[in-house]
Amino acid sequence: GQRETVGLNGLVKEALNLAYHGARASDVSFNADIQTEWSDDVGDVTVVPQEIQRVFLNVISNGIYAAGKSAAAGGAPAQIAISTRAEGGDYVVDVTDNGPGIPEDARKRIFEPFYTTKPAGEGTGLGLSMSFDIVKAHGGRIDLTSAEGEGTTFTIRLPKAARGE
Ligand code: ADP
Ligand code: MG
Repeated sequence: GQRETVGLNGLVKEALNLAYHGARASDVSFNADIQTEWSDDVGDVTVVPQEIQRVFLNVISNGIYAAGKSAAAGGAPAQIAISTRAEGGDYVVDVTDNGPGIPEDARKRIFEPFYTTKPAGEGTGLGLSMSFDIVKAHGGRIDLTSAEGEGTTFTIRLPKAARGE
């Protein structure tokens, strides 16, 4: 794909819509409280839009799935928070869920191809490994913080588009 200079908030909004409707399609009883905060300081990134959208689609879908599983198992109602901000030379997107969290020993493995804890047919284990490669190829990075029983935040950084690009 070709790189284009596009607004990051818009890319994340589109991915959120796709993720939300995908979750509704696979589970009609799915219900999540989704909070969003789109910073006015966030502008354009120069990216292959479909690739970056796939990254956000996967990370947001993972969060929705995790939060939905906890809620279905009798935990708190599913909550997802998405926020964007500018930080130094980057724009940053945080995707937080109140799912089960990711145990310490699994954190190193989740970016490996085919690592999944989902039942057959629900996950390929390719989402995060592809996302990692895509973000890296765009000069950015993905980090996570997670507390077991509380939830997980994935933080995705992408460089701001050069001026005039
Ligand atoms: P898949 O979604 O197909 O399983 P991914 O590469 O997207 O593959 O994710 C790999 C694994 O990482 C998941 O199966 C799950 O165990 C873990 N994971 C990813 N995101 C979360 C999250 N938000 N909360 C808890 N576990 C997660
Ligand atoms: Mg996934």
